[in-house]
Amino acid sequence: MLPDVEPGPDPAKVPADDPAGTPAPAARPAGKRRRFGWGFRLAVAWLVLVAGAALLADLLPIPHYDATLSGEPRSGPAFGHPFGTDALGRDILSRIVHGARVSLGVGLGAVLIGLLLGAPFGLVAGYYRGVVDRIIMTANDIVLAFPALVFALAVVAFAGAGVRNVLIVLGVLGAPAWVRLVRSVTMAYAQREFVTAARALGAKGGTVMRREIAPNVVLPALSYAFVIMAVVVVAEGSLAFLGLSVQAPTPTWGGMINEGRSNLDDAPHIVLVPSLVMFCTVLAFNLVGDRLQELTTIRHSGLEPRRARKKAAVTVDEPAAPERKGPAPLLEAVDVRTGFHTPYGLVRAVDGVSFTLERGRTLAIVGESGSGKSQLIRSVLGLLPPAGVERGGRVYLDGEDLTAKSPEQMRGILGTRMAAVFQDPMTALNPVRTVGAQVTEPLRVHRGMDRKEAYATAERLLASVGIPEPRRVLRGYPHQLSGGMRQRITIAMALSCDPEILFADEPTTALDVTVQKQIMRLLHDQRERRDMAMVLVSHDLAMVADWADEVIVMYAGRVVEHGPAAELFAAPRMRYTEALLKAAPDLTAPSHTRLEVIDGRPPNLVAPPAGCRFHPRCPFARERCAAEAPPLVNEGSRAYACWYPAEPVTVTEPAGPAVSTADGTDDAARSHQDHPAVSAGPVDVEGNIKDGR
Ligand code: SF4
Repeated sequence: MLPDVEPGPDPAKVPADDPAGTPAPAARPAGKRRRFGWGFRLAVAWLVLVAGAALLADLLPIPHYDATLSGEPRSGPAFGHPFGTDALGRDILSRIVHGARVSLGVGLGAVLIGLLLGAPFGLVAGYYRGVVDRIIMTANDIVLAFPALVFALAVVAFAGAGVRNVLIVLGVLGAPAWVRLVRSVTMAYAQREFVTAARALGAKGGTVMRREIAPNVVLPALSYAFVIMAVVVVAEGSLAFLGLSVQAPTPTWGGMINEGRSNLDDAPHIVLVPSLVMFCTVLAFNLVGDRLQELTTIRHSGLEPRRARKKAAVTVDEPAAPERKGPAPLLEAVDVRTGFHTPYGLVRAVDGVSFTLERGRTLAIVGESGSGKSQLIRSVLGLLPPAGVERGGRVYLDGEDLTAKSPEQMRGILGTRMAAVFQDPMTALNPVRTVGAQVTEPLRVHRGMDRKEAYATAERLLASVGIPEPRRVLRGYPHQLSGGMRQRITIAMALSCDPEILFADEPTTALDVTVQKQIMRLLHDQRERRDMAMVLVSHDLAMVADWADEVIVMYAGRVVEHGPAAELFAAPRMRYTEALLKAAPDLTAPSHTRLEVIDGRPPNLVAPPAGCRFHPRCPFARERCAAEAPPLVNEGSRAYACWYPAEPVTVTEPAGPAVSTADGTDDAARSHQDHPAVSAGPVDVEGNIKDGR
């Protein structure tokens, strides 16, 4: 009986390293504002009129709805009876106004009952997915398949006709549609960065659903409620027409239509007027609901791939624990593999990545979009979706195997020992919660502070990351702040529990160049002050050259080169690294210098090329490159995977005096280490590379 509406999982923000390559939604053209339109305004005006009349029915100067012979029976519209009278001489306007109470009251009540019954199941199914989702949705489909009219007849026959029973019937029948709606919206929001950020801070599933997702479900639910109201008004009218709703003498619109049937020939207005009022009301609910849905639903631009049959998360064969002679490194990833099941096959986003990281060091992960950088850190943090994922490998934190830990145990580590800062500070913060509520949450959850203590600490934290007037900022909402301020807040949240490792996933991409420099300096200072380690994911090679100690270059899910930043930027060995560095814009180059590009596109990770994955784009590729995958060979402190590497380069003097950064200014002092950077000045080289890199 109720509509089966499912807006579909529509994450508004697609991660930079989206394994499926799903395009981001098209941006709204500048200057094109969302408008309500005259249809929406008319519909709202009609609903206000009907609801107002229903509320004030007893105060209006109209005859009582059951006063017989208040006018000539079956008379048409006239002064005193603008809608005419029915067969008993009762005023039709009065009966319509009082009937609106029943229609709107039942509509509102049924919507609330359906929402209360369905929303919790929808939240749980959309958030946890997997088996929980399948069980809930199967039960939901069974309920949906039950014939609505049979159910209504059974309830009314058993319990009798009346408002309460009609409410229960329509509310219960509406619950499955609410389950589907709330599940869809939850699935969309569960992928958003502020939810990932909350999980990275160790928030429990229930807390994430209640505080991060539920407030965002309210608006789509409100718009859907109008559509449901329209359906319920028709459903109640149908039940009244069958004599299964509120009984006489209380008027209902459906009952009035039923009563007027016998007078259709000589007094059609008795049927037409309530029909027209019901039609206009249903139309108005639909118009308002549809328009609100358009304004609130987050959608892809129609480019979303067809749905895959999601498989539960699978853990593939695990590598043996590494043999260590000395103390374990702070962080060690061993053969990490992550694949996503898509309609086109298994996307191997991370394919056998290993690295170590020590305290006080910054490891940068670079590569093109889709190379697996962001998915690698999500794999290390254990923040992968619960279903449709194939994962493998081990991650050790101070020798402790994180991959063997339960989600509950991981929640105790995320936020306290490992924390993350994500790319876009606007999406990393929940837009409907105050800054204070969000910053104090990890302090209260992980450090057991009471509200007052948490706010005092949050104030100090915000001050420590350079936010002026922290008390005022804590009272505000994210949209009231600039991008740089929001990113400082996400950093403060990440640092609130003194993590040992901070993961920064493109922390400056959404910011302007001046703020980028401030944020990176802030991150670096915090790393120094707290003696923590940092994993930095970035496209910006100049920034990486400035701030990283070690660099991993990823291509098509694999590490193709790894080494100290100074050496790697001065003399790349793998041809992809070399091409990547050449493609980095040199802001010190003369104007009109042609920008270098890497020809071709990153490979399809469902079926990557055989041999070296870079060979279709590599100008140095030979027959062997297409036949055999080059292993990652160690060479001193470096490692690279290339059959025909660039010749080694000996750097005989430090880089030139200036380091060119993304903001285009030269500032030797900003570089915290003396190593040649992406667009460093000339260096003496030997071998084939003579371009000063
Ligand atoms: S292995 Fe061959 S194709 Fe791959 S980067 Fe080296 S030279 Fe190029």
